[in-house]
Amino acid sequence: MRVAIVGAGISGLAAARALVKGGHEVRVFERAAGVGGRCSTRQLDGAIVDTGATSIAPRGRELEPMMLQELNKDGLEPVAKPIYTHTGLRVSPGDTARSTIIRYAYRQGNQRLPELLAEGLDICFESNIEAFAMRDDDFVVANDEFDALILTQPAVEAHAMLTGLGINRPLGLCKFRPCLAVSLVYSATLDPQPYHALIDPEQRHPLTWLSLESQKVPDRLAHEGTSMVAQLGPQFSADYFDSDEGGIIGATVDYIEKLYGSAFGSPVAFDLMRWKYSQPENVAMFDSVNRAGSNLIVAGGGLLGGRTEDAY
Ligand SMILES: Cc1cc2nc3c(=O)[nH]c(=O)nc-3n(C[C@H](O)[C@H](O)[C@H](O)COP(=O)(O)OP(=O)(O)OC[C@H]3O[C@@H](n4cnc5c(N)ncnc54)[C@H](O)[C@@H]3O)c2cc1C
Repeated sequence: MRVAIVGAGISGLAAARALVKGGHEVRVFERAAGVGGRCSTRQLDGAIVDTGATSIAPRGRELEPMMLQELNKDGLEPVAKPIYTHTGLRVSPGDTARSTIIRYAYRQGNQRLPELLAEGLDICFESNIEAFAMRDDDFVVANDEFDALILTQPAVEAHAMLTGLGINRPLGLCKFRPCLAVSLVYSATLDPQPYHALIDPEQRHPLTWLSLESQKVPDRLAHEGTSMVAQLGPQFSADYFDSDEGGIIGATVDYIEKLYGSAFGSPVAFDLMRWKYSQPENVAMFDSVNRAGSNLIVAGGGLLGGRTEDAY
């Protein structure tokens, strides 16, 4: 069978690998110039920062044997320090159950996982698939004919594409949160903290999540200093999604100063990632979206949950 897959994120790559293993011919179409989607890493002034998934917790699911046994484990590290909580920037250990989950990160950045999954696959980069045609029981994607099609873009985008083509699938209730993710590199070195990340479980503060990238796993920073990624909460991100970069970075730097003191100074490098669809607010159920036996499948993280292991 010839199968087209839209999206080279974790779910598209997982599907492609499974199908190739089953003897099928698979072509993946990816809008971006590289793989990974929301499992994304950036290099910023000698720092490796994860601007999407901070850590990967396979929780005994299918991703676990793939990561720990099949793929190259070079650079794969358990994240030793726990996640603490903050309430109005007051830090406490919080929910210790959260810390018993085993999380991993790659020294090279978490985008290494999709890069490893992509090895040997046929992927067409910079191929933005806005529509497809149906001919008899086949699909025409980018002027090529396939027996089956798998859509793995965030479910809201798949829904918009299908609705535009007159295809009805119950994806309408699936909504995603926006997330502004600010990467910061400082020349000052932060004292070792007892946590690698902070979460505001109530989501009352704009700083919903802070990952200390230079303390998460070793060798993430090529020089002295501190690197971190701050994720701003859904309300803040929605309100300021299209705002000027300077204002968003400035607000984030103020929160960091309140946490770690003014002696920490100003960042020497920064970057802003605007995730329009970061994680699902509510998921659509895979089995209700996909009819048994259909050769058009809607997959992806938003159909099972909002995490990497769900996407896989
Ligand atoms: C800020 C943030 C923090 C997160 N933190 C964590 C975490 O700590 N732990 C965790 O487990 N998970 C986390 N997640 C969630 C995790 O990253 C996702 O669940 C997972 O990566 C989703 O994979 P996916 O393949 O379903 O979708 P995506 O990664 O979105 O992949 C879809 C791909 O499809 C491509 N695409 C879209 N439309 C088209 C088109 N029309 N044509 C061609 N290609 C197209 C996109 O470019 C993308 O590469 C986080 C996500 C974000 C955004």
